[in-house]
Amino acid sequence: MKVPFVSFVPMENELNEQLRDAFERVFSRSWYIDGAEDDLFEKEFAIYIGVKYCIGVGNGLDALMLCLKALGIEEGDEVIVPSNTYIATALAVTYVGAKPVFVEPIIDTFNIDPSKIEAAINEHTKAIMPVHLYGQACDMDPIMDIAKKYDLKIVEDCAQAHGATYKGRKVGTFGDAAGFSFYPGKNLGALGDAGAVVTNNKELADKVRALGNYGSDFKYHHIYKGNNSRLDELQAAFLLAKLPLLDKMNAERRRIANRYLQEIKNDKIQLPLVPNYTVPVWHIFAIRCNERDRLGAYLDNEGICTNKHYPIPIHLQDCYSELGYGMGAFPIAEEISNTELSIPMYYGLTNEEVTYVIDRINSFK
Ligand SMILES: *Cc1c(COP(=O)(O)O)cnc(C)c1O
Repeated sequence: MKVPFVSFVPMENELNEQLRDAFERVFSRSWYIDGAEDDLFEKEFAIYIGVKYCIGVGNGLDALMLCLKALGIEEGDEVIVPSNTYIATALAVTYVGAKPVFVEPIIDTFNIDPSKIEAAINEHTKAIMPVHLYGQACDMDPIMDIAKKYDLKIVEDCAQAHGATYKGRKVGTFGDAAGFSFYPGKNLGALGDAGAVVTNNKELADKVRALGNYGSDFKYHHIYKGNNSRLDELQAAFLLAKLPLLDKMNAERRRIANRYLQEIKNDKIQLPLVPNYTVPVWHIFAIRCNERDRLGAYLDNEGICTNKHYPIPIHLQDCYSELGYGMGAFPIAEEISNTELSIPMYYGLTNEEVTYVIDRINSFK
């Protein structure tokens, strides 16, 4: 049996008509930027997350960068990010001229360890960026307490966690602002690049919108040296077609994850820990194995595609050599990069396929 790592086909078949209608609607209007679809999607997504404001932007990286820029974070400032995340989290900090400061995760939730944050704070620290990695919420209460105690901003990276909750409340509602990515493979994905910022702060929302539109508050009037990062009408229309299916797609991911959690039984494999404060949306199902590469090759040979998230931690990437970190600087992130394996997880994965994946993993010796 062949099991792909991810497939969009089941979702695309289910929404075939809605996606074609979305294209027709936009094409028939001949209006492609800053129009009715973007307005409506922003309203609907704000309601879905439970915030007052949503601003559509070009992608997830821009969403995070615009949040930091709107909060006034700049050169000379430091921002705390997890040592185990996709590189975009750190790049957002770099792009506003600030310095990313890494804090280690808890190994079996993969998310930032709140008990290690305070040691990384100094007089330059301006913000914390919790990343709800792989679709599981960070432990937000202690993070919010630390932010309050040291007067720090919080920008949530929700790029992998559309609809995930912490103590019953959706992620993206805790910080000063949050960034979402609608890259096609994300839980809510466009048919191209797209992203959004959400916030309850009107002033911040206005600033993010202006910054993403050449720093303009009204046509040909520029109050900031802004960027060009807008959610175009086609992508907004596709996202409007997909948003009503998001909860069902996430529930299906949870059903698959629960089977993996209950039925994978192999001493060589560590399953992710799900703390009871979160209902995850399983963007990625990450297992750990000391013989990760041998397991990956074995599964590949059995027709099962896997991935690594992420094979090189950010502090060891060439582009961040200026930070001066060597091997051993962040041992937990390094351990994850050496042992993590992501197994198939997507809407439409069949029961037979899930059974096959579990069976093959349990047979790994
Ligand atoms: C995907 C991702 C981003 C960036 O989103 P893009 O839309 O690809 O720019 C940021 N952070 C995390 C954790 C991501 O997974």
